[in-house]
Amino acid sequence: MAPYEVYAIRYAHNERPARDNFMFGADIHDGPQSLDYFIWLIRGNGREIVVDLGFDHMGAARRGRTITRLPSEGLQSLGVDPGQVKDVIVTHLHYDHAGDLGAFPNARLHLQEREMMFATGRHMGSRTMRAAFDVDYVCDFVRAVYDDRVLFVDGASEVAPGISVHHIGGHTDGHQAVRVWTAAGWLVLASDAVHLYANREQENPFPIVYNVGDMIAGYQALAQLADRDDLIIPGHDPLVLARFPAADPSLAGEVARLDLGPLG
Ligand SMILES: [Zn+2]
Repeated sequence: MAPYEVYAIRYAHNERPARDNFMFGADIHDGPQSLDYFIWLIRGNGREIVVDLGFDHMGAARRGRTITRLPSEGLQSLGVDPGQVKDVIVTHLHYDHAGDLGAFPNARLHLQEREMMFATGRHMGSRTMRAAFDVDYVCDFVRAVYDDRVLFVDGASEVAPGISVHHIGGHTDGHQAVRVWTAAGWLVLASDAVHLYANREQENPFPIVYNVGDMIAGYQALAQLADRDDLIIPGHDPLVLARFPAADPSLAGEVARLDLGPLG
């Protein structure tokens, strides 16, 4: 099987204090530490598989976020027509990963069964637990279930040869990571199992978390899935765009190519 190309596509950005990004703040300096927002593209062997949906202008307005361009427009910069995409892996149903569904009318959605239960169950009766969910985006997914578009996963599953999803809970109950065969070896799109490199390196989780124990166990599980630690790709770290080469000089700072490994 030929290795796949993998791209990180940045679509939004948020300035915030560093202390907002760590559960345990004692040794965190008080400077700024911004978050980037990504979707990802896996391409090769005749397939184009999108990982996550990002959010659209409605989601941005509700949260006071700034979209640099819609996630679907980011895909178009790589020559991908979102309307033709057949498979979208959804790592979890938080607003910044599960919006903009209307741009992908022909895609099947690969989602952990546990995540749908979490996003529609008793925990959403808690203001804290539902804070990062958007009810309209979740309703879009309920409709997708009724339209036979959701492929439910329970634990680990192969999406295509060389591409698999793995339940890594903690951030949400049904969060999943994606493992991909690349020229650099087995690469893992951790999504929000790791927000920032430092969350995992310092074992200091991002504070939006359902289960801290599962989150920390997930840091170790990711190491089992990836060939090397630097092939574990965090979900929101601006360093991804600095550590990996640009997909194309015109896309510098916007789209990184991950499958060749980090820059020397
Ligand atoms: Zn996120």
